[in-house]
Amino acid sequence: MNRVLIAEDEERIARFVAKGLRANGYTVTVVGDGISALDHALSGGYDLVVLDIGLPGRDGYGVLRELRSAHIAIPVIILTARDGVRDTVAGLEGGADDYVTKPFRFEELLARIRLRLRTAPGAVAEPTLLAVDGLSLDLRTRRALTDERTVDLSAREFALLEMLLRHPGQVLSREQMLDHVWGFDFDPGSNIVDVYIRQLRRKIGADKITTVRGMGYRCG
Ligand code: CA
Repeated sequence: MNRVLIAEDEERIARFVAKGLRANGYTVTVVGDGISALDHALSGGYDLVVLDIGLPGRDGYGVLRELRSAHIAIPVIILTARDGVRDTVAGLEGGADDYVTKPFRFEELLARIRLRLRTAPGAVAEPTLLAVDGLSLDLRTRRALTDERTVDLSAREFALLEMLLRHPGQVLSREQMLDHVWGFDFDPGSNIVDVYIRQLRRKIGADKITTVRGMGYRCG
């Protein structure tokens, strides 16, 4: 559980991170572009990826999307100079486990890496399955299981369903879901939440999500 892939095109930062990690007993490989990052990460030879967003070839979001759509559950920590809420939310919803904003202290990154490797699939027992009333969500494969059927979800559908299942029996408002899943720059009058709820219901069964009129939605 100590093989780290660093995808970072700024040599100074890559060297600094690689050196620090090696000094802490990690096996480190550095790549400087998105295509190599994806190739390496898909190889299965790593336990964690430190992924810069601004990479040549393929940016970090593209790499992350490919990884998650290939159902590769390896923990990914994003390195980003862009500290806007929107980018952070996009990164986490794209399937990143955590992010660190440049400039950062090495200790800060190391703490995140240690935490993620401790909670990585196969490491220990953070719950990886959320289950409510015959519906379950696998947090590693990011797929839902309902009535013995496995259902693939988009990143936003997953985020929405995860939020509902983490609050079983509780009514969540459209505003809460907008904030959590889409970020703060969405028009509160938008009906995007309802659109996604409809999509989810088509996939997992209409009865799995209850509408609470004038308030929002709940599972369980
Ligand atoms: Ca960069």
